[in-house]
Amino acid sequence: MKSLGSIRRDFAPWNDPNAKPYIQFDNVTKKFGDFTAVNNLSLTIFEREFFALLGASGCGKSTLLRMLAGFEEPTAGRILLDGQDLRGIPPYRRPVNMMFQSYALFPHMTVENNIAFGLKQDGMPKPEIASRVAEMLKLVKLEQFAKRKPHQLSGGQRQRVALARSVAKRPKVLLLDEPLGALDKKLREETQFELMDLQQNLGLTFVVVTHDQEEAMTMADRIAIIDKGEVMQVATPAEVYEAPTSRFVAHFVGNVNMFEGKVAEQTANTTRIAGSSGAQIVVDNAAKTAAGADIVFAIRPEKIKISSKKPADAVNALEGEVYDIAYLGDMTVFHVRLDDGQMVRASTMNAARITEDPLSWNDRAWVSFRPDAGVVLTR
Ligand code: ATP
Repeated sequence: MKSLGSIRRDFAPWNDPNAKPYIQFDNVTKKFGDFTAVNNLSLTIFEREFFALLGASGCGKSTLLRMLAGFEEPTAGRILLDGQDLRGIPPYRRPVNMMFQSYALFPHMTVENNIAFGLKQDGMPKPEIASRVAEMLKLVKLEQFAKRKPHQLSGGQRQRVALARSVAKRPKVLLLDEPLGALDKKLREETQFELMDLQQNLGLTFVVVTHDQEEAMTMADRIAIIDKGEVMQVATPAEVYEAPTSRFVAHFVGNVNMFEGKVAEQTANTTRIAGSSGAQIVVDNAAKTAAGADIVFAIRPEKIKISSKKPADAVNALEGEVYDIAYLGDMTVFHVRLDDGQMVRASTMNAARITEDPLSWNDRAWVSFRPDAGVVLTR
């Protein structure tokens, strides 16, 4: 069985026409004065989904979260949760909790009191609070830190307290605004896996805002890529990476090479693209496009093979010169300047310690790729 990317997803309600969306943004617009932060945006999120809103700073992703939490109301459009229109419902009456960038822990309270705070406010009986707090401490593996205050904890531990506090009241939906922003890289990676486990174990719906593509790719079931208040694509991480639908998305997630050209010839299965300088490439998964139309072939660096000799069987092989080499340990990235001037990035996994046919700066080299190695984009 073939699949896009290495993962087969058993959880995929978005592919089920009968599945009912849990959260719906329905033509939502948000204006601040005459500035449009969110522009007529629609998207749906399913129950138990780990959903990421990914975009550059200022694209409107936090505004989306704040509207869902009830801190802002849409200027136009509707937000529905489990079929109910949320307009006019104050934040504390929504089955939604938000974990903020800054965590906002109470500095004078112990870890357990921080976690218990919301439960006390709700008037939960004391024994129940105690058992819920114990359960939460266990969940985030902080049992031995219950009596400490936030300043006696590391950044990662504080983050886990904030998380425990946000889920203590068992909200149906947890909104996380850059939840791992304050952590260093290594801790962030560890915590990503912890967050995924937590979400699975509790069976909650998570909506996370991030500008970090790797973070979204690691954690999310699906990602919405947002630009200037609009959705550019909503898809699984593998689809976003392997089948972007626009140049914007292809560029935004990962590295990509773009070959600009025109459709020279199209048959049922293959499209021949003529580059501006005469080089031609053949691809086999393009949508029907008029001859002569401007298109772009987008291909990821790891799908491109680099070699010192022309590969005998390659459908697409272009010649050039090695311009730059970055040895990164696990892989090596080559920049090859093709004879028509285009720069191509090709990356090779260093699966063995010894390289048989090493390339050096200024060597002549061939880059080659299969007809199905990339995607054709028209926008
Ligand atoms: P970041 O990653 O930097 O937090 P973001 O994508 O979350 O960015 P938002 O906070 O949603 O961005 O803001 C979207 C746009 O709306 C920004 O240009 C911001 O300046 C503007 N904006 C947000 N809140 C307000 C407000 N209360 N008044 C005026 N403009 C606002």
